[in-house]
Amino acid sequence: MKETAIVWYRNDLRVQDHQSLYLASCNHQKVIAYYTFDPAHYQTTSWGFKKTEKYRAQFLIETVDALQTELEALNITLVIGQKSPQEELPGLIKKWDVATIYLQKEWTSEEQNTLREVQKNCDESVVFSEHYDQFLFHPNDIPFEIEQLPEVFTQFRKQCEAKASVRPLILKAQCMPKENVLSERYSTPSLNDLGLEASSQDSRTAFPFEGGTQAGKQRMQYYGWESNKLSFYKKTRNGLLGKDYSSKYSTWLANGSLSPRMIYWDLMDYERNVEKNQSTYWLFFELAWRDYFKFISLKHQDRIFYLGGIKGRDYDWKNDSQLVNQWIQGQTSEPFVNANMLELNHTGWMSNRGRQNVASYLTKEMHVDWRIGAAYFEAMLLDYDVHSNYGNWMYVAGVGNDPRDRKFNIPLQSQRYDAQGAYQKKWLQTTLFS
Ligand SMILES: Cc1cc2nc3c(=O)[nH]c(=O)nc-3n(C[C@H](O)[C@H](O)[C@H](O)COP(=O)(O)OP(=O)(O)OC[C@H]3O[C@@H](n4cnc5c(N)ncnc54)[C@H](O)[C@@H]3O)c2cc1C
Repeated sequence: MKETAIVWYRNDLRVQDHQSLYLASCNHQKVIAYYTFDPAHYQTTSWGFKKTEKYRAQFLIETVDALQTELEALNITLVIGQKSPQEELPGLIKKWDVATIYLQKEWTSEEQNTLREVQKNCDESVVFSEHYDQFLFHPNDIPFEIEQLPEVFTQFRKQCEAKASVRPLILKAQCMPKENVLSERYSTPSLNDLGLEASSQDSRTAFPFEGGTQAGKQRMQYYGWESNKLSFYKKTRNGLLGKDYSSKYSTWLANGSLSPRMIYWDLMDYERNVEKNQSTYWLFFELAWRDYFKFISLKHQDRIFYLGGIKGRDYDWKNDSQLVNQWIQGQTSEPFVNANMLELNHTGWMSNRGRQNVASYLTKEMHVDWRIGAAYFEAMLLDYDVHSNYGNWMYVAGVGNDPRDRKFNIPLQSQRYDAQGAYQKKWLQTTLFS
């Protein structure tokens, strides 16, 4: 195979540990990379929220800028579009006489529909070479058929720990000859171009997130090797304040600028060279949760978006805009919920403890359709990931993988995790006066 290839980037925005880029660079004389800011991702959805709000959009712009620079070091041009792939890609394939498109395999309906539309507009001879590249455990390596995947996380984790292994990092992509570079250098859009308002980062943010693999790797370097915070992760992970109560890796993982394998193998090095303890194990444990929700969505497909969830449960859900607005604006009867919602609204971030509580409040106290909460998170979260988001929302709403269908006692949670009220003070007081 020696023709031109396109590497179509979506949620795999890195150069390192990247199956498609590696294969394209080994098998083809000419390689072009492509990413588009698809307008569909910036529209207002039927839930009344933007699909992507300014926080994640800004992070994405930074990520794509960084990706462009990293690809340039390999003499590969990143074509940056602003139209839908179905509108743009078939024309590019024709223009450059492209034989093969390499891409990360996605299975959720929007991505599948887009791919089908692209394929419909291409010559039948064009090969679409798809690769699972977002998992810790490759789907071919887990000890279950997807249809037999356990509905309980512990069973999944124990079997994977006993019988599967994480693959080594994928080899570095080949550097292409200089002639591979296209004459045009493409630019990323601004937030305004995407129909979003630019704003400066809130000084109260839990973490000054910056897009791109390099920034993600710096965080890994700091959280593990420099500060050893990783060695205390299990004790701090339920925190609410400050940069270091948890890893903050989710933002880079969500758009693929870090891969879970990169984190895993760094973790193994850390365990060998610094310390192996319950905390280092717990980071693996949480990465396994991330994988689990991906496998759950692979198994249940579109049912993760159904009101009854994967359990097909028939609860009496409300769609009451007054309740939804109270929740969104942080005007409920629970200050702990309000503080968390304000943090989300001002920064695009919320801790895992916060997410569990606000989701429980919306679904188990207000009885509001859980998909409204999930759609709001989809808009706002810096680290939105379709599988983790819908999987966790179903879990908390009682239509997913929680065998016990629990409800959070929010005043008790607030006492336990914010005993002095410092977190609530930070968001409730300053927001009142800002
Ligand atoms: C209602 C709700 C919605 C959520 N939506 C998302 C989402 O859209 N994207 C997202 O990445 N996470 C989501 N989570 C999971 C979790 O809250 C975040 O992954 C975590 O808070 C990110 O912070 P961190 O990277 O510092 O995590 P750490 O505690 O440092 O964990 C390390 C990594 O493990 C993974 N992880 C940890 N907890 C979970 C979990 N419960 N489920 C899946 N993976 C996990 C993440 O990749 C995370 O980066 C959601 C949780 C809830 C309750």
